[in-house]
Amino acid sequence: MKVVKVALPVQINSLFDYLPGEFSPAKGSRVVVSFRRKNIVGVVIKTNCDSSLPKSKLKNINMCLDEIPLLSDFYLEFISWVSDYYHEPLGQVIAAALPSCLRKIDDISPMTDTCFRLAVNVKSKGLSKKQACLYHFMVNKCCSVSYWWLLTEGFRDKTISSLIQRGILVASDKTEDTIVSKQQILPSKVELNEEQKNAVHRVTNNYNYSTFLLDGVTGSGKTQVYLEIIADVLVSGRQVLVLLPEIGLTPQTLKRFRAKFDVKIVVIHSKLTELERHAAWMLANSGEADLVIGTRSAIFTPMPKLGLIVVDEEHDNSFKQQSGLRYSARDCAIMRAKRSDINIVLGSATPSLESYYNVNQSRYEYLKLSQRAGGATMPKIKIVDLRGRRLQFALAEQSLQAIKKHTQMGNQVLLFLNRRGFCPVIFCHDCGWTAKCTRCDTNYTYHKDKHKLICHLCNSQKSLCKKCPSCDSEKLHEVGIGTEKLALGMQELFPECNVSRIDRDTTGGQNTFDEAMDSAYSGTNQILVGTQMLAKGHHLPKLTLVVVVDSDGALHSSDFRAVERLVQTVVQVSGRAGRESLAGEVIIQTHFPENKFLQCVTGHNYTEFVKLSLHDRSQASLPPYGVLALLSAEALFEKQALEFLTSLKFSIPQLNLAGVSLVGPMLAAQQKKVG
Ligand code: ADP
Ligand code: ZN
Ligand code: ZN
Repeated sequence: MKVVKVALPVQINSLFDYLPGEFSPAKGSRVVVSFRRKNIVGVVIKTNCDSSLPKSKLKNINMCLDEIPLLSDFYLEFISWVSDYYHEPLGQVIAAALPSCLRKIDDISPMTDTCFRLAVNVKSKGLSKKQACLYHFMVNKCCSVSYWWLLTEGFRDKTISSLIQRGILVASDKTEDTIVSKQQILPSKVELNEEQKNAVHRVTNNYNYSTFLLDGVTGSGKTQVYLEIIADVLVSGRQVLVLLPEIGLTPQTLKRFRAKFDVKIVVIHSKLTELERHAAWMLANSGEADLVIGTRSAIFTPMPKLGLIVVDEEHDNSFKQQSGLRYSARDCAIMRAKRSDINIVLGSATPSLESYYNVNQSRYEYLKLSQRAGGATMPKIKIVDLRGRRLQFALAEQSLQAIKKHTQMGNQVLLFLNRRGFCPVIFCHDCGWTAKCTRCDTNYTYHKDKHKLICHLCNSQKSLCKKCPSCDSEKLHEVGIGTEKLALGMQELFPECNVSRIDRDTTGGQNTFDEAMDSAYSGTNQILVGTQMLAKGHHLPKLTLVVVVDSDGALHSSDFRAVERLVQTVVQVSGRAGRESLAGEVIIQTHFPENKFLQCVTGHNYTEFVKLSLHDRSQASLPPYGVLALLSAEALFEKQALEFLTSLKFSIPQLNLAGVSLVGPMLAAQQKKVG
C-alpha cells in the first residue's frame, strides 16, 4: 500500500499521509483532502511512500487540482529550507507563499487560463474610458493575450468581462500567436561614472553565486547600477527579482524601471487584490514575467528562470516579517540566490551592521559608490544642542532661523518627526489622571483633527472629554508634540508658507499619498512635516533643509538595534536634502550633542559608525557576534507567564549548556498589548 505525503496549512510540524485513490498526483501538485472533517488544499511533497499508519486510518485524496505540478522540485526545496530554518511547518510556509486563490478549492474566476484576442471587424464606439483603453491595448498588440497578462497590465476583471459580453474580445486558442514581451532595453541617458562602471562589471562578470553589497551614499546612483546589471541578465533571457521596502512609497523607482525596460514587469505588494496577486504569480511561475518587483513576500514568487536578485535598501526593517511566519526576506533572498547559483546585489546608503560584518568575514563582495552622481554635493549636517534652550513647537531658535532662511530663498524644508498625532500624552493638572488605553496600558495619543484619543498600539479610540474623568477639573494638559501639532505650529509661525503634513493619518489611501507626494515634488508646499514615510527613496528637487526634530528617544532605547535604526533614518532623511544643484543642510536636534554615534553622522562617517557599533556589539556578544533566542510567553496574568518561563528555564537541557547565558525571565517592555 503506497501513500502520498501532503503538506497542509496547519500548525503541526509534519506531513500527512493520504491514499491516492483514483488520482495519481505528482510532487508539487495541489490536492484537496479531508482534514479534521474539513476539506482543505494541500501540496503533495512525496509520492509512493510507505506509511506507518494502518490502512484503516488512511483517507483517500478527494481531488487533484493540478495535472501538471504547480510547484517545481527546485522551488519546493527552497521552501523546505525556509520551513527548516524558521521552524515553521512546511504546509504553513507554502500557504504563506501561495496567493490565496490557489489555496481555495474552487477557482474564483472562470476565465483563468483563457487567452483572448480581438474579434474581427469590431467597432469601438460607445466604450467607457477603461474599456477603450483595453481595446486599444489589444489593437496595439494584435495577438492573443492571456487573462493573467491583462490583469497584470492593470485591466480589471470587470472591464475584461464587459468587452467579452460586447463581443469585442473572444476566447482564442493557446496555440495562436500569443503575446510575448518585446524584451527591449532602452539605453540609459546617463554615462556611468568610474565607480558605477566598476560595480556593474564586477557583478556582470561573475557567473556563479555571489552576494554583493553595494554601499553607496544617497544619490550616488545605485539605482542606475541596478538597471545596468538587470539589463545584462534580461538580455540573456533570464528573470530578475527586485525587492523594495515599500513600493507604494517609491513610485519613482518603479517609473525608472518601466522607462528602461520594455519587458513584462509584474509588481507584487500588499495592496494588490487577490486576483491581481494571482495573475502576477502565474506569470512569474510560467516564466512569462521577465522582471518581478515586489515587497518582502515577493521573495516566495516562483521564477523558473531566475538569474539575479536585487534587494534595495537591504537594511530596511520592513524586509523582516515579525508575526506568523517570521522571516527576513533579505536572508531568504541570499539563500535563494545561493541555491540557484546566481548573483544577488544588496544595496543601501546605510547597510546593516550584519552585512558589513559579512563583508569583513569575506562572505560578501564589497562595492562602494562614494560620490553623489551628477555633481550634487553632500549636505552639511549640524547638531543643534537643545539643552536649556527655549523651544517653540519642539524647535530651537536656530532651527527656526534655518527654516526661515531656506523658505525665503524659495526652497523646500522637511521636518522629520516620527510621531503621529497632536500630542502623545494628555493628563490632568489637578489630580494627575492620564489618558491611557486600558487594554495596552499605554498613553493615548491625542488627534485633534479627529477629536479623538487613539491608542497607537491597538488602534482603539475614545472621544476626548472636556473635563478630567477622575476629578472633573478642566485643566487637562497636552504634553509633547506629534506631526499634527508641529504642522499647525509651522503654519502659525510661517503663515506665508504652505505646510503639508505627510503621515499615515493624512494619507490613508494610496491616492491621497500620491497626491501629497505630487504636490511635494512640485515644491508648492514649502514646509513638509512627515514621519518615516518621507524618509524613504523620494527625490525632491527643491528640498534643501531637513530638520530631525527629535533624536533622543532612540539613543536610550532598550532595543539594541534602536541606535542603528536612528542613524540609518537620519542618514536617509539627510539624503533627501540638496539632491540636485541646490546645496543641502541638515539639522539634528538633540540633548546629547556629544553622543559618539551622532558625531559620526555629522562627519558623514557611516563607516566609523559601523566600526564603533560592531565593536560595542562584539563586547556585548550581541548579533552578529552572538546568537540570541527569545522565549516569550503570553498569559492573562503576569504570574502565569513568569511561572511557565521559569519552569522552562530549568526543564530544557539545551538552555543550561555551557556557553549559553540565560537572562530572565523578565517582563516584556510592552507588557500589555492587544490586537
Ligand atoms: P541612489 O539610488 O543611489 O539614490 P540614483 O540612481 O537614484 O541614486 O541617482 C541619483 C540621481 O543621479 C538620479 O537623478 C540619477 O538619474 C542621477 N545619476 C545616476 N548616475 C548618474 C551618472 N553616472 N551621471 C549623471 N547622473 C547620474
Ligand atoms: Zn483630574
Ligand atoms: Zn491599546
